[in-house]
Amino acid sequence: MAFLDCNKAMDYLSTYKEKDGLSVKDLMNSKVNGGLTYNDFLILPGKIVFTSKDVSLDSKLTKNITLRTPFISSPMDTVTESDMAIKMALSGGIGFIHHNCAPEEQANMVRKVKKYENGFINDPVVISKDHTVAEIKALGKKLGFTSFPVTENGKVGSKLIGIVTSRDTEFHEGDQDPIADIMTTDLITGKYGISLEEGNRILMESKKGKLPIVDDAGNFVTMLSLTDLQKNQKFPYASKSPHSKQLLCGASIGTLDVDRIRLAKLVEAGVDVVVIDSSQGDSVFQIEMIQFIKSTYPKLEVIAGNVVCREQAAELIAAGADGLRIGMGSGSICITQEVMACGRPQGTAVYNVCEFSNKFGVPCIADGGIQNIGHIIKAIALGASCVMMGGLLAGTTETPGDYFYRDGKRLKLYRGMGSIDAMQKTHQNANASTSRYFSQGDKVLVAQGVAGSVEDKGSIVKFIPYLFNGLQHSCQDIGVRSLAALTEETAKGTVRFELRTPSAQYEGGVHNLHSYEKKLHN
Ligand code: NAD
Ligand code: ATP
Ligand code: ATP
Ligand code: IMP
Repeated sequence: MAFLDCNKAMDYLSTYKEKDGLSVKDLMNSKVNGGLTYNDFLILPGKIVFTSKDVSLDSKLTKNITLRTPFISSPMDTVTESDMAIKMALSGGIGFIHHNCAPEEQANMVRKVKKYENGFINDPVVISKDHTVAEIKALGKKLGFTSFPVTENGKVGSKLIGIVTSRDTEFHEGDQDPIADIMTTDLITGKYGISLEEGNRILMESKKGKLPIVDDAGNFVTMLSLTDLQKNQKFPYASKSPHSKQLLCGASIGTLDVDRIRLAKLVEAGVDVVVIDSSQGDSVFQIEMIQFIKSTYPKLEVIAGNVVCREQAAELIAAGADGLRIGMGSGSICITQEVMACGRPQGTAVYNVCEFSNKFGVPCIADGGIQNIGHIIKAIALGASCVMMGGLLAGTTETPGDYFYRDGKRLKLYRGMGSIDAMQKTHQNANASTSRYFSQGDKVLVAQGVAGSVEDKGSIVKFIPYLFNGLQHSCQDIGVRSLAALTEETAKGTVRFELRTPSAQYEGGVHNLHSYEKKLHN
């Protein structure tokens, strides 16, 4: 057989009517292919003409908020409280603080995120002069640090009168002596409002290890520690309000009347965006809540949901939603599809809702079922702007709760917000105006989630950069320079897909090894 001229390969390629693989429209034709989720398909590679570092991960969260990364932590009580929200925002994403707690508690967590300044000790432990040396030594052993500012009443916000560090206590013999006898009172302090650089300079010049920060009246506000400054990480992608430079913070609310009171407290604390947290967002309760928010707090961004069909999306967009959250039954702790018979495979849900919503400039979050970097890139190819993660972030240092050991593994609790455990906590709170559920009248709770555990994953300060670099490499393989380009080129039909049979999925995983270790990052 005569071969064609190799020099003409590119010309010959152009004689094919269509690019290799499937368009997203053909892939997502559920009449032919059924409902799909992330593992059911792959994205075909494109041409690499740039380095992975050139890839932009800028992503729209809502109509008016753009982040430098598409990562969002879910408003679940085993995932997002202030620590997680702070680190998510520092890493370029955003955290949504859960509402399975009293409104004041949730507002205080938001306040903590908004007040956070990288490098300054967030929750400084302060003592009073009446503590004994023995008590301070014991406190140091318990907390793992040995320096304590001393204030008039032993609290933050009161007059700073001294400081004790290990050097003061270590060789002091009289264990029952009051701290007042040994504390340093000739203090070097910084004025509240100084920059990290300025604080660093004062510490270097004074050769001290700690710099208490005080307000104009001499009241203690926070503290800088030289060891923190020395290992201070830079967060170039941090999500901040353009005006105040404070970290961005989200929070969830429900659709009960009491949620309007909760919302007022969150707004007062400085929340930037709220998500109306429901498994089925297309309800009159939610539509009324969106309209209430938009008329009462026109500047507050509101994400509505959850939705999985374009009919649901249309209702919430028309009501004024600034963003949508997609997913019903796809979460790792979820039994909604089993119990309610309601939901949709996540790939099909993301495609159909985004195809509609993107026409109105309403960004969408793919929520639930994200197990790895590949799932994130697929969600974005299907039209989502951001991804919300519960299980993938659960077990990290920043999640609420303590680690425990089982079967030789270090674990943390991770549970659905519709699990019996989580709902019982809600009911315990329900005597005040805190109820997350309307179902007090329900004698029998119907669970939509389970409670489980996940392994220790370390800090998200390392985990998010792993996701970040992974996404950049993935975009490079696909041949797109940004996440926005991925969505656009997919919609145009330039980025192509392939369905995976069960045996193709088997082939795509590690196979036929006697044993192996799956280490995902260093
Ligand atoms: P929800 O608050 O939307 O609904 C709870 C019940 O209260 C529903 O019966 C609802 O119709 C009712 N209700 C809400 N507002 C009302 C009002 N103003 N008046 C009268 N009745 C009202 O919460 P949910 O859907 O049960 O979800 C609970 C939690 O579990 C959320 O955190 C949610 O994210 C999570 N969840 C998520 C999924 C998912 O697939 N994404 C599935 C199940 C649960
Ligand atoms: P040193 O090792 O010099 O005696 P230290 O034990 O007091 O100092 P550092 O090494 O300065 O502690 O800090 C260890 C960690 O503890 C840091 O992350 C710091 O932010 C935190 N830390 C130190 N002092 C306090 C405090 N009073 N309250 C809360 N956190 C503190
Ligand atoms: P080391 O540096 O050896 O680990 P340390 O953590 O105790 O010890 P510093 O925090 O520098 O070191 O404390 C050394 C001494 O300086 C202590 O007596 C402490 O009370 C005092 N000191 C620490 N910070 C200040 C400050 N800002 N102003 C005045 N004195 C301070
Ligand atoms: P994951 O990232 O796969 O673990 O899914 C997290 C998502 O599951 C959350 O963001 C919620 O949308 C959803 N979810 C939270 N609690 C429940 C529940 O109890 N049942 C079902 N879905 C839940």
